[in-house]
Amino acid sequence: MNAHTKAPEAAKGVFIDNRWHKPANGRTLPVVAPAEGVVFAEIAAGGAEDVDRAVKAARKAAEGGAWGRMSATERGRLLTKLALAIEANAEDLARLEARDTGKPMKQARADMVATARYFEFYGGAADKVHGETIPFLPGYFVTTERVPFGVTAHVIPWNYPAQMFGRTVGPALAMGNACVVKPAEDACLTPLRLAELMAEVGFPEGAIAVVPGLGEEAGAALSGHPDIDFISFTGSPEVGTLIQTAAARNHIGCTLELGGKSPHVVFGDADLDTAASVIANTMVQNAGQTCSAGSRVLVEKAAYERVVTALADRFGKLVAGTPEMDRDLGPVINATQKKRIEGFFARAEEGSVPVLASGTIAAGVPDGGFFVAPRIYGPVPRGNELANKEVFGPVLSVLPFEDEADAVRLANGTDYGLMAAVWSHDGNRAVRVSRGIKAGQVYINAFGAGGGIELPFGGMKKSGHGREKGFAALHDISTIRTTIIKHG
Ligand code: NAP
Ligand code: MG
Repeated sequence: MNAHTKAPEAAKGVFIDNRWHKPANGRTLPVVAPAEGVVFAEIAAGGAEDVDRAVKAARKAAEGGAWGRMSATERGRLLTKLALAIEANAEDLARLEARDTGKPMKQARADMVATARYFEFYGGAADKVHGETIPFLPGYFVTTERVPFGVTAHVIPWNYPAQMFGRTVGPALAMGNACVVKPAEDACLTPLRLAELMAEVGFPEGAIAVVPGLGEEAGAALSGHPDIDFISFTGSPEVGTLIQTAAARNHIGCTLELGGKSPHVVFGDADLDTAASVIANTMVQNAGQTCSAGSRVLVEKAAYERVVTALADRFGKLVAGTPEMDRDLGPVINATQKKRIEGFFARAEEGSVPVLASGTIAAGVPDGGFFVAPRIYGPVPRGNELANKEVFGPVLSVLPFEDEADAVRLANGTDYGLMAAVWSHDGNRAVRVSRGIKAGQVYINAFGAGGGIELPFGGMKKSGHGREKGFAALHDISTIRTTIIKHG
């Protein structure tokens, strides 16, 4: 199927006011299929002029336009319609996503289920966000309401283009913001198609704009635009700094989701077979290019051999292939990421960090594809970069720990704090350890890399700030107006 999966022709444009427009500079960018290493589509190289046009359209929609005047219930209905449209188009969207990102079809299909679910969840939530009444001085009545910021900017990465679109614009639209999205140049065909679907199901003009292009052009123009009211960003810590600086210059807020080095803490009394299989499978989800990937396994010393054997066994059987081969993982996103991961491999070899097992690349994958065979390393020395740095590839590090206190220290021993898991059948210990870990989400005897639309998600420490998903996202993507009435 893949060779014939075409990007929508219209994807060469910027999507503003429910229509495709040629980018003002007339330039396009090639889109490469990671499993093939060949160009299969073009996108617009949007720039400052396009961003300005998109922001103006959004402002008009949010203030006085049909979108701004719409009731919360009506907004919710539109979001629900979009969820249904995504379900109806799920197979086409999954094919587009798989071609654009290289991920196996089953993962792309799962991504579309999650994307639809974002709009279903936030469609249902739109008219269920209530304010408060506050006791105040005698003769006063005080009430609060949650109101939209106005125009929200969304800069999203290439790893889960459709899901990231749903995750960030779902709650923003539910609260009544008009959204301008800058998707990643490496994979943005599904966000463009989703914007088109929004127009088809009846979102009014200006509620959504998508301006694809280079980060340093379209992304910088959007995050620095003087007429946006908030920025939601997911991506690298380096660009996160630029985003927050841009937000500071405009005195607006932002949420940052900047990745992690999420630990699994495994005690010897856990169900080790289940733990090993969940850890291996979630690690290679999206070829390890998941901000919440559980990329460090911290193992109680006494159980080290047993855990490592189970994990190495799983890792040795993992196979990378093209989307239509539908194996455990696909290629990584581009040649640069592949080279970056291979750099970690080379330095691990120089440092004599033992490889416990390697997966394989399926026979018959195209020569130009950006495939990396998964690897598991252990024991990784505590100071080694594989113990602390985000690889963003199918690479797992195993480190032994001495006791509970050591486990918590080690779990908290990186700059990041996005997710974590504790595996133990001693309930008291599992809860104790989980509450000692600084992370936005902690699982006990389970792990869902990025799972759970209903569950507040986001970072502590340098993984970023602000919350997405769940009702928490509705709060972070809106603000409070307090009305004070003196009635005497
Ligand atoms: P990135 O450069 O931070 O890209 C994220 C988004 O920011 C993209 O839309 C990007 O656009 C845009 N951007 C880039 N430069 C910008 C600028 N100066 N101003 C405004 N926006 C800008 O991340 P990446 O290159 O995709 O990945 C690099 C590393 O980031 C990965 O190795 C990984 O460690 C991390 N990462 C984390 C996540 C996560 O979910 N937390 C996701 C992806 C990557 P363009 O792509 O078009 O340049
Ligand atoms: Mg691509």
